[in-house]
Amino acid sequence: MSSVATYVRENHQRYLDQLSELLRIPSISTDPKHRSDVDRAALWVRDRLSAAGCSKAEIHKTEGHPIVYGEWLGAPGRPTILVYGHYDVQPVDPIEQWNSPPFEPTVRDGRIYARGAADDKGQFLIHVNALEAHLESSGTCPVNVKFVIEGEEEIGSEHLTPFVDANRKLLACNAVVVSDTAMFAKGVPSICHGLRGLTYLQIDVRGTDTDLHSGSFGGAVINPAFALVHMLAQLKDTKGKVKVPGFYDRVRKLTAAERKAFASLPHSDAKFRRSIGAPELFGEVGFTTLERTWARPTLEINGIWSGFTGEGAKTEIPA
Ligand SMILES: [Zn+2]
Repeated sequence: MSSVATYVRENHQRYLDQLSELLRIPSISTDPKHRSDVDRAALWVRDRLSAAGCSKAEIHKTEGHPIVYGEWLGAPGRPTILVYGHYDVQPVDPIEQWNSPPFEPTVRDGRIYARGAADDKGQFLIHVNALEAHLESSGTCPVNVKFVIEGEEEIGSEHLTPFVDANRKLLACNAVVVSDTAMFAKGVPSICHGLRGLTYLQIDVRGTDTDLHSGSFGGAVINPAFALVHMLAQLKDTKGKVKVPGFYDRVRKLTAAERKAFASLPHSDAKFRRSIGAPELFGEVGFTTLERTWARPTLEINGIWSGFTGEGAKTEIPA
């Protein structure tokens, strides 16, 4: 075993204790009541970066929550990797659905349950610990490392872009590692190298000026709710293929190597289906579930409403 791996093993418990310490800080960025907790989390991160061996670890104030910056640049001539992460977390409601208090880390079945454990305190600390393990066990690190750990990811990272623009030199690097994603499974470290992105549209269909009584006017005009579902029904065929002209034109084909790599993962359609409580899996024919969710674009209805949606019945043709 390498000396780095030995060091990690020997410090396993301390790493967990330190993660728990950070998880106990309720750094909810959206809630002004937690402003001082957010600041406390930033200080904790700065001190941890320092203790891990960063030669520079500092807090950059923004108009919102602070950004923590750290660096170790002791490998001249080697590439510089910038690690991005965030120390802020989402609110905890509905609180009654938690099996253990969100800011009291609790281990169940080998997993730590706490707000932020998997998004993103656990992830970015792994990189900090990795740097420390290299420095402590061999006195050096194979690459230069910079850290940018922000406190506004959960509220849109509003002050990150101006910070990056104002600190181009400080942040210069050869590659950015964003560890704000999941491992595929326990024991399967994963590199997520792309996301699908999103285009979000709202379609409004209007027929008449006011709602009409369906008994008096039904049959005289087109019902906008029908017009809408007719349009929507034409967007996709019954085999899951999107029918919008040009939709697939610029979609990159999966390479044989990518398909092979996806197929080699420990994935079971049956297990996956049960985990989401679906009666069956469905999607574009000719692709596996992982290919359909990772590499093929999809088109979904996120919400739909029209007409009378209250309790009981009302005879109307919606406007
Ligand atoms: Zn995140």
